[in-house]
Amino acid sequence: MDLKELMKEAGIVGAGGAGFPSYGKLASGADTLVINGAECEPLLYTDYILLRDELSMVLTGIQAVQDYLGVKKAQLCVKHHTAEKLAWEDGQTLAKGVLVTVLPDVYPMGDEIALIYQATGRVVKPGNLPISAGVIVYNVETLYNVAVALKKEEKVTMKWLTIGGNVARPIVVKVPVGTPVSALFKKYGVVVPENHTVLDGGPSMGKVVNVGRDVVTKTTKGFLILPNDIEAIRTKFINVEKSVARAETACCQCTRCTDMCPRNLLGYPIEPHKMVRTAMGAAEFMPQMVLTATLCCGCGVCESLACCQGISPKAVINNYKALLGKNKMRYVATEGVSPAAERDYRMIPSTRWAHVLGVAKYDKVAEFVGADEDFNKVEIMMRAHIGAPSVPVVADGEEVVKGQLIAKAADGLSLPQYASISGRATVIGNEKIIIER
Ligand code: SF4
Ligand code: SF4
Repeated sequence: MDLKELMKEAGIVGAGGAGFPSYGKLASGADTLVINGAECEPLLYTDYILLRDELSMVLTGIQAVQDYLGVKKAQLCVKHHTAEKLAWEDGQTLAKGVLVTVLPDVYPMGDEIALIYQATGRVVKPGNLPISAGVIVYNVETLYNVAVALKKEEKVTMKWLTIGGNVARPIVVKVPVGTPVSALFKKYGVVVPENHTVLDGGPSMGKVVNVGRDVVTKTTKGFLILPNDIEAIRTKFINVEKSVARAETACCQCTRCTDMCPRNLLGYPIEPHKMVRTAMGAAEFMPQMVLTATLCCGCGVCESLACCQGISPKAVINNYKALLGKNKMRYVATEGVSPAAERDYRMIPSTRWAHVLGVAKYDKVAEFVGADEDFNKVEIMMRAHIGAPSVPVVADGEEVVKGQLIAKAADGLSLPQYASISGRATVIGNEKIIIER
């Protein structure tokens, strides 16, 4: 089967990002494949464990994509601390055409645009896709899933994830997609202490989890249990209205948020201090005033490190992103840009970032506890990816077996879904399919 078709059939999405269907990235015009193993956020060890224990599968996935696209060069990018653990060196050959690229231990390195520049020296034109710079980026687990589809003819039904933060023993485990977070925590004795919050993802970019309701998805990288009084959690509960009001009154226009913005340092025309001084009413009247808001990667450097007035430029920018989204507007440059000369001196060491977020003391390398399929219930979401939701094909009450197609891809950009355990299916409209043993 054609690789693009195989990736679609297997239901593969970008394993750590927003859930873009991976087959959609397979376009001609690339000369370099960049593999994102930066695992940029503190406390997450999922990609490290995959590279340590499943490297041959990851390399199989890389070479399949290389062969399909005729791309001779692949750069497997890991941060310096991960390279040390794996005993890898910069420029080391892992397989024909696959080289290690060691990234500095700075934040943010996992951001696709920053990663591409660091690995290849190319800056993607603002608002354009990586392919415009001749690059395709895939996450480590995505390529592992490509190899699983190729060698074992299996679909994506399992997810690798870290459980970390304020826990006695951080672990990495492989569990069925759709496993309830509550069942996962119960199984591994994880108790969420009072005044703690659980995040799906890293401390900077992760989303707050409702433990009683949420489930493992194909994009879950990890669950972190963190106390409410640290910066990483404080920023998740910022009141947007208050933040906008404070920005309008308290900003002294020192420009520190712009000076430290990683996207601005790459030459992107985003200037958070100007966003902060733009009145929301004016932006509503003339959204093109804040068009560059769509260039923000959401790293949080401006709100957690740069601003000394307690303002969150990121929250203001998120407001503008929503406004632009409603108006179907985004910034797309036709000209290239160049990084600022001072970029190298303004990058934030990972250890400092972990301290800023208040998570440094929880950073212990996670232990891999293996694959665990012993769960009695899963909930498979139909909107588990960017694009059109999957369309259920099983009847309510039907018995299904693990790996069986339960929802087909819709027309256009979409993906099918497969049963991650065997059992009886309950179809909840077009929202989800619950399977119980
Ligand atoms: S969150 Fe702030 S620092 Fe990060 S890219 Fe957006 S504006 Fe720049
Ligand atoms: S860092 Fe804070 S005070 Fe300075 S310009 Fe940015 S928002 Fe205003």
